[in-house]
Amino acid sequence: MTDQEILTRAAELLVARMRKAVRIGDANELCLHAAIRLRSEVREVVLAYWLGHEDRLIAVEEIAAGGDAVVSYSPRDLARKALLANATSVAIVHNHPPGTDPRPSDTDRQAATSINQFLSVVGVFPAGHFVVTAEGAENVMTGDRCTFLTEVRTLDPRYCERCNALKENH
Ligand SMILES: [Zn+2]
Repeated sequence: MTDQEILTRAAELLVARMRKAVRIGDANELCLHAAIRLRSEVREVVLAYWLGHEDRLIAVEEIAAGGDAVVSYSPRDLARKALLANATSVAIVHNHPPGTDPRPSDTDRQAATSINQFLSVVGVFPAGHFVVTAEGAENVMTGDRCTFLTEVRTLDPRYCERCNALKENH
């Protein structure tokens, strides 16, 4: 298996798990999925994770892609797509491409605030805004962080749980 195939498989596994339920509290799996999917993006891309009953994943949708630093999309368009997807809540994730500042910007925080207001009006719960890089994710509103190193390793089919190492290192 090539690295590419392993990551593609890992992304599929994450989507399958999230269809059962997403833990909104930390949203690790969702951010990890976004990090894998956007790992070779040099632009900023915004993904919406539409969630339904009991926070089960309905679909992942790319809602905007832009320049190398900032991407914008309208809250109105987002609200319309949420209703079309029949989502009861949505988590929004965008990447900061390699070489750019991995921390959420002031623009990110302002955008998240106005989107949350817009979503509440149409009855869609905002389940969080996250910035991802290859190394980890940060919650735009709370500043909570997670790193991916452990999760990426355990998703690798060569990973051995007993030894907490890749099998080839046995
Ligand atoms: Zn940003």
